[in-house]
Amino acid sequence: MLYVRARRWDVLVVDGYPPRVMAGSTLTAYRKRRNFSRSPEPRGARARQAGARFVVQLHHASHLHYDFRLEMDGVLKSWAVPKGPSLDPAVKRLAMHVEDHPLAYGTFEGRIPEGSYGAGDVIVWDSGTYELLEGTSGLAAYRRGSLKFALHGKKLRGGFALVKMKGRDSTENAWLLIKERDTEADPAWRATAHPASVLSGRTLDDATDPMPAVSNPEKILFPDDGITKRDLVAYYQRIAQRILPYLKDRPLMLERYPNGIGGPFFFAKDMPRGAPPWLTTVALESESAKRTINYVVCNDERSLLYLANLATITLHAWQSRVSSLDCPDVLLFDLDPMPGCPLRRVARVALSVRDIVASVGLSSRVKTTGGKGLHVIVALQPDAPYAVVRRFAGLVGHRVRDALPDQVTFERTISRRPPGTVYFDVAQVGRGKTFAAPYTVRARSGAPVSMPLTWERVEAWLKSRSADPAAAFAQWRIANAADSPDPWQSSYGKPQRLEPAFERARNEWRNG
Ligand code: MN
Repeated sequence: MLYVRARRWDVLVVDGYPPRVMAGSTLTAYRKRRNFSRSPEPRGARARQAGARFVVQLHHASHLHYDFRLEMDGVLKSWAVPKGPSLDPAVKRLAMHVEDHPLAYGTFEGRIPEGSYGAGDVIVWDSGTYELLEGTSGLAAYRRGSLKFALHGKKLRGGFALVKMKGRDSTENAWLLIKERDTEADPAWRATAHPASVLSGRTLDDATDPMPAVSNPEKILFPDDGITKRDLVAYYQRIAQRILPYLKDRPLMLERYPNGIGGPFFFAKDMPRGAPPWLTTVALESESAKRTINYVVCNDERSLLYLANLATITLHAWQSRVSSLDCPDVLLFDLDPMPGCPLRRVARVALSVRDIVASVGLSSRVKTTGGKGLHVIVALQPDAPYAVVRRFAGLVGHRVRDALPDQVTFERTISRRPPGTVYFDVAQVGRGKTFAAPYTVRARSGAPVSMPLTWERVEAWLKSRSADPAAAFAQWRIANAADSPDPWQSSYGKPQRLEPAFERARNEWRNG
C-alpha cells in the first residue's frame, strides 16, 4: 500500500480551483464550469465506441501544468500534473484528478479567454494510445485507484502507474503518476526540454504571441470604404471566439480576393499552396472533380488569421463535420429574394419556415447571409444522410409555397423566377455544398457580415417599408459586428433528431 504525504498548497494551486472528486463518467462538471459561447473549448459528448487514446496537454492557466488524460468509458479521465510527467522511476509526480473531459478535447489547442474557467493557452503536448498492463478493465482499475498501462506516444513511452493516494494527509483526488522500470525509463529526461505541440509544432510561447503578421497590410480590399487587409485580419481576430465554433471540423471553401473586391476572385477548396504544416486539412475524394481535394479545416484562431491574411473574405462551410461527413448537423434553408422583393416579404417567408418546422417539433434560428438573403437553420443530430435531409427540406418548401403561393419560387433558372419572389433553394442541401458561415464577411460594399438574428427582429421587419433587404442587412459590418450582441451564443442550438419530425410531416402534411 502506498502512503505519501502531500502538502496541501501543492494540491490547491492546480488551475486555481479547489479540487473535488468527480464521480462517474458524465460531462456535467465539465460543462457546468465552461461557457461555450466564450471559450473555444469543445462542448463534446460522451462517445459510445470504446477506444484507448491518451493525450497530455500543456496548459498555462494560473499555473503552468500538464493535463494527463486517458480515454475510458467514452470520456477522457483527467489528472492535472503540476510538474509534468517524469521518465525517472524514482520520481512520484502529484496528479490531481479533475473532471472528465470529452474525447473532442484531446485535439483542442487554443486560448481559453480571460475570465473563463482555466483561462490561458493550451497545446497538445503528447498523444497516442495506451494499453493496460494489469487486468482487462481500465474502468475497474480506475475505480480501485490503481492503473498500470503502457503509453505509445510521441514523447511518452513504456509503462506508467497512476495510483490514488491513501492516508489522512491526502485529499480525495490526489493521485501519483510514476514511471515503471523498463527500457523507456530515463532519469535524465526532462519534460521541459520537449516543449512543442505534437499536433501543431508550436510551443506555448508561440501561442502567446500577439497570434498575426499581415502581409501587404495596407492593401485596400473594399475600395468604397477604404477597408484594408489589416482591417479584415483585425476583424477576424476580434470575432474569432464567436466564429470558430461554427467552423470547427467543417471542410471549407475559401472565397479569396487577392486584389480586393473590385479585382479577380476565386473559390478555393484546396489547401493553399505553401500552407504551413500546422494548418489542419482533410483529404476527400471529389466525385465531381475526380480527384482528391485537401480541404482546409479552420479549428483555431491561428488558422483563421492565416486564411484572412490570404485575402479570404468569405468562409463557406460544409453542413456536416469531418466526423460524419455524409450526415449534416445543420439543415439549411437558403432564402434568396429576387429583385423587387421587399424586406417584409423575405421576413414573412423566413417566419413561415420557422412556423412550419416548429409544427413538427423543430426549433430553428435565422441569420442574414451577409448579402440580400436569409438563412434559416435547424440544428440536427448528424444521423440522417443528405438525401433524407434534402427530401425533408423539399417538403417544407412546398408547405411554405402552399402558405404563400405568390411569394415563393423553386425555379432553378434565374431568368424564369418571377420578380419580387423569394427563391427557396433546396439544392443547397448536399454533401460538398457550402454556405456562408455566421459572422463571415461578404465581398460587398461596406463589408457586411452574415449576422445571427433573433426571431423577434425578423417579426419586426414584417412592418418594414424597406424595399431593399440587402440595405437593411448591411447594418452589420466588420466595423460593428463584434460589438453587437451574440444572440446565438456561438451555437446553432441543441441538436435535434430529424426522424420524428419527418414522420410527423409525412402524417400531418399528407393532404396539405
Ligand atoms: Mn488544465
